[in-house]
Amino acid sequence: MNNSNKEIIIIGAGLTGLTLGYYLSKTNCKFKIIEAQNRIGGRIYTKETPNNAPIELGATWFAKQHTNVLSLLKELNLTLFEQVLGTTAVYEPISTSPPQIVQLPKNQEPSYRLTGGTEQLIQKLAQHINKDDLIIDQEVTTILHEDDRVIVKTTNQNYIGNVVISTLPPHLLTNTITFDPKLENNFYQTAKNTHTWMGESIKIGFTFKTPFWREHNLSGTIFSNVGPIPEMYDHSNQQDNLYALKGFFNGVYHKTTKEERCELALLQLEKYYGKQVRDFLTYEEMVWKSEKYTSTEYDDLVLPHQNNGDHAFQKSYYNHKLWIAGTETSISYFGYMEGAVRSAQRIFELLTT
Ligand SMILES: Cc1cc2nc3c(=O)[nH]c(=O)nc-3n(C[C@H](O)[C@H](O)[C@H](O)COP(=O)(O)OP(=O)(O)OC[C@H]3O[C@@H](n4cnc5c(N)ncnc54)[C@H](O)[C@@H]3O)c2cc1C
Repeated sequence: MNNSNKEIIIIGAGLTGLTLGYYLSKTNCKFKIIEAQNRIGGRIYTKETPNNAPIELGATWFAKQHTNVLSLLKELNLTLFEQVLGTTAVYEPISTSPPQIVQLPKNQEPSYRLTGGTEQLIQKLAQHINKDDLIIDQEVTTILHEDDRVIVKTTNQNYIGNVVISTLPPHLLTNTITFDPKLENNFYQTAKNTHTWMGESIKIGFTFKTPFWREHNLSGTIFSNVGPIPEMYDHSNQQDNLYALKGFFNGVYHKTTKEERCELALLQLEKYYGKQVRDFLTYEEMVWKSEKYTSTEYDDLVLPHQNNGDHAFQKSYYNHKLWIAGTETSISYFGYMEGAVRSAQRIFELLTT
């Protein structure tokens, strides 16, 4: 399909939408990206704390097998550094025994973080996209198919194009955007039961004046089956002059307040590190289940990765005018940044060859 004269509308400025925009910006194709939030990046969100420490509240780690995203980073001159895991971890297997210090297995495949934070990838991609073609703060509500065009309606404007690409998690797409005419029933059934990766997760991060855990010969790595923090890691910056611990918080606490979650986290960390944890400089968190542009409630039980990469997301609708992209639609590495990049690359090839 040659789309050089066509107007392409991309819904969502997360990693998929921006990667697609980045590739399209190298061609003559006309395109616009419409983003509901007043920030870009979607599930990539590096929170800069008042003391300038970058805390990843969304995607953080890259792995060697994530070859397409690694090539993209190289192309954009972005660099990685290794996640510090250390040789030991605090481990709490059951509530009836005290926390233990365990040796971490040697020769583990390392994971990597992006220098300056994952947000650097988002900002670098956006730099290649014309400012007028990246529209933020406009929620798409309806996609209308009429003869040879599609009309994408937002809360305050209509955009007319020849092709529309959704990059929303499919479950969110079916729950929040109206299609006129309706798509085939199988699409709704599949999308309704498609898991949105990390949609239930809570991430928390503390910054500290000193990396006191290291004074106790601890790496900052925690694995617990007991406390509300199941996993935590040293999250200090690459220069190792801004000190932080960051981890996941049990998603069942999504209804408690930020202050309550902070206190519960401190109680758990105090067990391992003592009162020093209470001298934290900042506390940051993100409850992804409450993010209306990521998650909506499922009607039924949906298991992690369920229906990701399904056939319903590989085909086009509205006579090749509507394509469904996004990490959950990728046939490999779905859920991860790698899946988002692969999904964008697939759509780019479909649109330009
Ligand atoms: C807590 C957490 C930790 C993670 N950790 C990792 C990790 O370590 N490694 C890894 O590889 N991956 C990780 N991921 C997954 C990674 O973040 C995703 O794979 C990737 O960012 C998905 O990009 P996307 O563009 O497909 O979707 P999204 O980022 O969800 O982008 C969709 C975009 O659409 C916008 N949008 C939604 N509704 C509308 C609407 N109606 N109109 C217009 N715009 C709309 C959203 O605001 C968003 O910007 C993590 C995710 C989370 C949440």
